[in-house]
This record gives sequence, structure tokens and C-alpha cells, in this order.
Amino acid sequence: MLKVHTIPVTPFMQNCTVLECTETKQAVVCDCGDAQPILDFVAQRDLNVVAVWATHGHLDHIGGTEALIAQLNIPFYFPRGDDFLRTTLPEQARNYGFPAVKVPAVDTNIDKVKELCFGNVTIEVRNCPGHTPGHVVFYNADAGIVIAGDVMFNGSIGRTDFPRGSFPQLEQSIQQQMYSLPPATVVHCGHGPTTTIGHEAKTNPFVKAK
Ligand SMILES: [Zn+2]
Repeated sequence: MLKVHTIPVTPFMQNCTVLECTETKQAVVCDCGDAQPILDFVAQRDLNVVAVWATHGHLDHIGGTEALIAQLNIPFYFPRGDDFLRTTLPEQARNYGFPAVKVPAVDTNIDKVKELCFGNVTIEVRNCPGHTPGHVVFYNADAGIVIAGDVMFNGSIGRTDFPRGSFPQLEQSIQQQMYSLPPATVVHCGHGPTTTIGHEAKTNPFVKAK
């Protein structure tokens, strides 16, 4: 069974999520913005972390990745459509006053990957460009959850004023890739509280379901 743990990290309070397969104790870290809080958490729960996955390339979502994959000797899965962000990570860190970070090498490009597995869990990868061109979300129908990164938030949507952001693209991603999920699906957002697909489809002030 899949269990989702949320650990807010960085001054941006980015919701890093640890996906746990409760039967095997294998785990995947999604959007590792900072390594130490995650290392502490997985040690405490005695989880066997097998990979780091990223929804997109912004600093607060991948800034801790290099430290985590080096420490645990695990692979990094990343959508290469956001490589222009990954490769400029040190500049992003300088601009936002973050401690220096290293660029994490990519082991698997998930731009065109449809499914990822760990433990007894299978996760569907959905392309949701708009906030960034390479942005993906991670969906699991059995648990009824989606890891949404910065595609949408409770009562809001991701910013599209960053380099290579696009509101029309984001709107289309939300309509086609998010609002097509079952209404009861719990949305784990990159920042702030969770919400559900049904709630946002009805009430989101920026993108209402058609
Ligand atoms: Zn972002």
C-alpha cells in the first residue's frame, strides 16, 4: 500500500513528499529541496529509499537532490524538458540567497515515461507543462493521490511568469491531466495544504473545469 508523507523544506516551505510502500518499506523521495530533513525522516522510519523523482526543475524542488543521492547512492529521475533549470541551479541558489548547491546528474529522463515502479507500487507519470515546460505529476489510482508539484494549489495555480512559463499551457494541463482524474483524488501540492480534484474543479478561481 502506498502512504504519502509530507515534509515542508526550504524557506519556500516546499512540500517534499516521501512515498512509502508499506509492505516492502521501500520509498521514493519526490522533490528533494533539502536533504537533511529527509535523511532524518527516512532514518527515523527505517525506510529504504530507492530513488529521487522530481516534478520540475525549480531550486526549491531539487536543491537538496545532489546531497541526497550522493549520501544514499540512489538514482535521480528528472524530466529533461526542465534541464535549463537544473543546469542553472547554482545561479538560482545565488539569486534566492540559498546555500551553494551542486547540479544533480540525471539517471533517467522521465519526459516520456508513462509509469514508474518501486516496492509494490506503480505510479503514473503525467506531463503537465505550463509552470515549467517539463513539469510532470505523479498519480496513483489505488491510493487516490496525485503529487502535483507547482501545477496547482488549494485555491490557486502555479505561477506562469517565470522563464518559459505559459498560462494557456498550464490551463490545458489542468483541464486535461488533472480534472480528468476522479473527483475524490487527493492533490498533494508543492506548497500549502492538500486539496481534491473535485473541490478545485468546482471552485478554483483561475481554472474551472469545463
Ligand atoms: Zn516551481
